[in-house]
Amino acid sequence: MPFIITDPCIETKDTACVDVCPVDCIHPRKDEAEFAQATMLYIHPEECIDCGACVPACPVAAIYESPDATPAHQKDLIEANAIYRNGDADAIARAEEIVKAHVASQPELMAIPGPERQAAHARF
Ligand code: SF4
Ligand code: SF4
Repeated sequence: MPFIITDPCIETKDTACVDVCPVDCIHPRKDEAEFAQATMLYIHPEECIDCGACVPACPVAAIYESPDATPAHQKDLIEANAIYRNGDADAIARAEEIVKAHVASQPELMAIPGPERQAAHARF
């Protein structure tokens, strides 16, 4: 079961998780062309080895340990993580569309600053 990046990453996007991932399955990295346009980062579900190293590295607790552990109102982002592929414009567009729809559908949650958003997940 892969780890899942959720909405506190939006706006934060600091790539601390990328630096600790042993299998380079979190994209886009800062040195990849897609970084500027990506709203958040994504974990490739088939490449993630479930090591857990990214979780304590994330300053905003955006990463959940599995789809099951991901709160119901974040489950749309499971698909975004699964779809995103560097170098595939269509896949990137589809993943980013899911993120945009997520932001639009969660105005109260997204109004909370990124560093405080995960703590608020339980209330939504
Ligand atoms: S759980 Fe491990 S392998 Fe999976 S994204 Fe996090 S650091 Fe990478
Ligand atoms: S460490 Fe957290 S906020 Fe930073 S890029 Fe990774 S998931 Fe996003």
